Amino acid sequence: MSVPIVRTVFDLRRIVAEWRAAGEKIAVVPTMGALHDGHLSLVRAALTGADRVIVTLFVNPKQFNSAADLAAYPRTEVEDAAKLAPLGADLLFCPDGDEMYPAGFATTISITGVTEGLCGAQRPGHFDGVATVVAKLFLQTQADLAYFGEKDFQQLHVVKRLAADLNIPIDVIGCPTIREENGLAMSSRNMRLSDTERKTAIVLAATLMESATRIAVGAPVEVTLSEARDRILSAGFQSVEYLELRAEDDLAPLSDLERNGRLLVAAQLGETRLIDNVQVPFQGG
Ligand code: AMP
Repeated sequence: MSVPIVRTVFDLRRIVAEWRAAGEKIAVVPTMGALHDGHLSLVRAALTGADRVIVTLFVNPKQFNSAADLAAYPRTEVEDAAKLAPLGADLLFCPDGDEMYPAGFATTISITGVTEGLCGAQRPGHFDGVATVVAKLFLQTQADLAYFGEKDFQQLHVVKRLAADLNIPIDVIGCPTIREENGLAMSSRNMRLSDTERKTAIVLAATLMESATRIAVGAPVEVTLSEARDRILSAGFQSVEYLELRAEDDLAPLSDLERNGRLLVAAQLGETRLIDNVQVPFQGG
């Protein structure tokens, strides 16, 4: 069993047209490859929601801030295709850079509000790159449903805003973060961690979860976050780019837990930048 690989928008559209003519519901799962169980959970969810599932694999240069980060990003197309085949994904769309951004390409989609702060502040242009490529993937695949991970919580908000604002007829569905047994959120970037860094990385998720529990039962936000920051740094992280409590529904900054929140973090460990987030449930009335 193998998954058909398509590399051009022309071929993709031909296949999608047949599916649509047959009245089939189509889902898309956009990825940058180096697939792990987090990605595969999105594919499984998509398979339950649609008749056809397109997985896209494109390491999008427009969403990287540094050439070194882009060059170091893992590329494992053969292994990725092998992981998808047994799940029953219908198609793997792997365009190259020229197919996505041919000579003369000049459009950028820029979203305000939900892109401000957090990763948006730390990675200028990142969400423009995400929004532009995701808009293209939505239009190329003409999917009815799109599955994204809560692991990239701000990105999920950005993509929902994009679809709503541009009237793209697609339902954006968020899926829970898949973690290793030790709590570390799965990420293609984890491949780059040394054995020692992996042990240190566990502290990020553990601290996040513990802080979320404390805030949920009424601990003061600022003090809790300051202690969490110290703990992450003393574990061996070089820096904590941000550690913030935001509202779950619109990402507004929260100084008190007055509705459901999300605690979001980005921290640098050696050469690797890790992000994570957890829910902080509002229990008051
Ligand atoms: P990426 O390949 O990192 O661009 O991610 C592709 C999709 O997989 C995005 O929607 C991510 O949010 C999602 N994803 C990445 N890691 C995880 C995870 N650990 N659990 C659930 N979804 C994830």
